[in-house]
Amino acid sequence: MKNNNVGIIGAGLIGSLLGIYLSKKGMDVSIYEKRSDQRKKDKAQEGRSINMALSDRGWKALEKIGLKDKVKDSSIPMYGRRIHDEHGQTTFLSYGKENQAIYSISRSHFNQILIEEAEKEGVNLCFDHRCDHVDIYKNEMYFSLPDGRKLKKVPDVILGADGAYSSLRDAMQKQARFNYKQEYISHGYKELSIPPKDGDFAMDPNALHIWPRGTFMLIALPNPDKSFTCTLFLPFEGEKVCFEKINDEEDLESVFRTYFNDAYRLMPNLNEEFFGNPTSSLITIECYPWVAHKSLLIGDSSHAMVPFYGQGMNCGFEDCFILDGLIEKFGTTSWDLVFEKFQKIRKPDTDAICQLALDNFLEMRDSVANPKFLIRKKIEAK
Ligand code: FAD
Repeated sequence: MKNNNVGIIGAGLIGSLLGIYLSKKGMDVSIYEKRSDQRKKDKAQEGRSINMALSDRGWKALEKIGLKDKVKDSSIPMYGRRIHDEHGQTTFLSYGKENQAIYSISRSHFNQILIEEAEKEGVNLCFDHRCDHVDIYKNEMYFSLPDGRKLKKVPDVILGADGAYSSLRDAMQKQARFNYKQEYISHGYKELSIPPKDGDFAMDPNALHIWPRGTFMLIALPNPDKSFTCTLFLPFEGEKVCFEKINDEEDLESVFRTYFNDAYRLMPNLNEEFFGNPTSSLITIECYPWVAHKSLLIGDSSHAMVPFYGQGMNCGFEDCFILDGLIEKFGTTSWDLVFEKFQKIRKPDTDAICQLALDNFLEMRDSVANPKFLIRKKIEAK
């Protein structure tokens, strides 16, 4: 097929889903991923995995390529938020009517499902290929391999699905009139866990648990192995409770006993996890245009957002769905037209979602703890 040799940078959630979509269209797709093939690691090497909340945008994109049922089997429905107050009392706020839910799924497991499907569809997956540089004028991608070899690839089009620190976007940033804005928020996050209790879930498995505490919060999502993955969001510094002020087990115990006592009692590995796991930062990225010559940014590389609306991945999946629809409508004899339409359609929507994600941080950590908010949400849910 002429004009349809596609090079995707990044085999994350968006790059692998995009590979499946384009391969199903009969294109010759290669994905270049800097990490090694995670499927070859044994369980002990797998390490931590956060879980993602998968919602309608994401399901729609999976349904179009026949993956909805397969993914549903690996996910757990969460019908609402369960709010934990400081005394251990909980309130349930349903997400909608008639059992509407969002779904919890392990990021690493989900990524592996998508990589496997991409392989089945005939996508050429090149792991251990770190993209060092892209020449957007010549359509050339330059890669380093672990053994020191360097490779150059020249596809017809390049799709940058290489996340918030995209190499393709780096190249685009050197062009005139490329707008770029990034912002680290004041908070960071740390992964913790609640293991199963007496062989079962230690809390209600069908809810997204939130401990909102004003300037900080803890959340927990269920896993199929009956554990919960928790994420603690704290300011880095300058507040009464912040990462900078938790320096030893005593500080940690004091914070958890004071603010998250019901969770604390379910976290036997808290010390090791808190002091062993990294503290990660949270970034929002806006840029435009997403297109340069024969290359396009997609997913987090074009619109990384903070995770409080649970929409970064869902939104990236929607990117794939919309791009696919445009290819169906306009064909790929002129990728320029498809790319141009894509960025015009997607930019306003993703800007809006990035803003909602920032706004939802305030709601999750603060308003959901406010009695008036709880009453209003309960009335809305009826
Ligand atoms: P990434 O997931 O970053 O994948 C990029 C891939 O490219 C990686 O595999 C990387 O190794 C590879 N790569 C990077 N650079 C190169 C290079 N130079 N060469 C080759 N390969 C490269 N979203 C939701 O929808 N729901 C949620 O519940 C949710 N929860 C979140 C919780 C947290 C704590 C965070 C931080 C994010 C959350 N998100 C959530 C957002 C979601 O994780 C991202 O939007 C999503 O992972 C973006 O996918 P991506 O494929 O665009 O980028």
